[in-house]
Amino acid sequence: MFDTLTDSFKNAIGKIRFHDDEKALKKATTELKKSLLKADVHHKVVKDLISSVEIETKKNGVGKDNFLKALQEKLTDILTIEGAPKGFTFSSKPPTVVLMIGLQGSGKTTTTGKLAYFLKEQKKKKVLVIAADLQRLAAVEQLRQITSQIDIDLVADENAKPEEIVKRGIEKAEKELYDVVLIDTAGRLAIDEELMDELARVKEVAQPDELFYVADAMTGQDAVRTAQTFKEKVGITGVILTKFDGDSKGGVALGLTQQVGVPLRFIGAGEKMPDLEQFIADRIVSRLMGAGDVESLAEKAAAAIDPKEAKRMTQKIKKGQFNFNDFLDQMEQMKKLGSMKSIMGMIPGMGNMAKQLGDMDLENSKEIKMIKAMVASMTPKERENPDLLTNMRKRRIAAGAGLDQVQVNRVLKQFKSAAKMAKKLSGKGGMKQMQDMMK
Ligand code: GDP
Repeated sequence: MFDTLTDSFKNAIGKIRFHDDEKALKKATTELKKSLLKADVHHKVVKDLISSVEIETKKNGVGKDNFLKALQEKLTDILTIEGAPKGFTFSSKPPTVVLMIGLQGSGKTTTTGKLAYFLKEQKKKKVLVIAADLQRLAAVEQLRQITSQIDIDLVADENAKPEEIVKRGIEKAEKELYDVVLIDTAGRLAIDEELMDELARVKEVAQPDELFYVADAMTGQDAVRTAQTFKEKVGITGVILTKFDGDSKGGVALGLTQQVGVPLRFIGAGEKMPDLEQFIADRIVSRLMGAGDVESLAEKAAAAIDPKEAKRMTQKIKKGQFNFNDFLDQMEQMKKLGSMKSIMGMIPGMGNMAKQLGDMDLENSKEIKMIKAMVASMTPKERENPDLLTNMRKRRIAAGAGLDQVQVNRVLKQFKSAAKMAKKLSGKGGMKQMQDMMK
């Protein structure tokens, strides 16, 4: 997600050794400056970052450790606003009300869905969404589809005024004890008075705890400028940058917090519901400096994986009873973690591998589609017990799945060796074996 930026830091860090002189430091900072500007970080932010890192490193003695420490501290500093919330915080008096604002096409409606999904799945909250974007009528229908897909309640009425529907929604949330209310507000193609007036009216009724400005990261410094305007006119408490998976150079994320004066709170990197990540400064800095973000990964995994289910699965694997139904269940669980690329990016040292993987799509890969088709043509008994599959049965399954028998055999072989490996790994010393394998 931060490929360009992470490379910039890696190159600069590589220029400086353990005990080095000021010339080497200059080389490192010059390299850093060049690549940050290329990654679209605002020049004032770059200048401030470089001079601070130079001064701090010199003060503590030029060398790799001090350079790394200075860089880490300054990066955390520019991504943080004193006293601002870290991650998503809940109001002490529920429901926590969030206004989602942004220009048309920025990804506001999709992000409303993603945020609802994040709060439900990772934070285990009861979420209500209010469709108050009545400017773009398709937005209501889009929100209907998104919320029904992720099983989130929605309040919508195309014939009501935005303030009315917001009032109705909040009353419902209070009465029915929802934890969070997300309000999708009107978007326009550009900032105009009418939009600002409407937002002010909605804000008055909603009395929001948070106002998130959703901006398209690919618009670069334009995203910063519009965020500044929205901050002046309606007040915002945070920014969400979307479309980070596109050819966004990432630099805008680095400067935005200082430039706008409100923190960047989330980043959207994909069109699917799990493709939203909290932007927590020290975690992001760790990732930028190539050290991974194990904390976020653990949080995601803990939320996606039901501990009882995990235990049951481990037992089955140990007994060698892992079957096709279990396999499909596991795939569903994995999907909740988001894209393969974003998972790899969070593991220390795996950043480069993530880049090579591109956007491997677990759900739509050819292999997975083949397995799904195969399982669909099996009888329930066959799904439970892969050992039942005689040649005659395999021929029937192949025909049913539109595959040839060679393909079926290949998948079966892979499945069996995966189950065998899992069995081995779940036994004593399994973790160590896995670590050895990854070396
Ligand atoms: P709105 O007009 O601001 O409500 O925008 P939408 O939510 O309808 O989004 C506009 C388009 O951007 C849609 O096609 C979304 O699927 C897409 N989109 C939103 N967020 C992301 C993202 O993080 N990555 C990518 N690649 N596309 C996104």
